[in-house]
Amino acid sequence: MPKAHTMYKVDKSGKVTPNKRACPRCEKGTFMAEHFNRYACGRCGYSEFKRKE
Ligand SMILES: [Zn+2]
Repeated sequence: MPKAHTMYKVDKSGKVTPNKRACPRCEKGTFMAEHFNRYACGRCGYSEFKRKE
């Protein structure tokens, strides 16, 4: 059986994260950490609040 999971980025905990939010300030491929109410970039410090639905 082929290893289909190689298509996805898997972090150390084994959690699959195919759709992380990319930082608009940093170069492509820099992803922001998700917090309970916002996203934050650990590289440049940019943060973006989530919209309440
Ligand atoms: Zn950034």
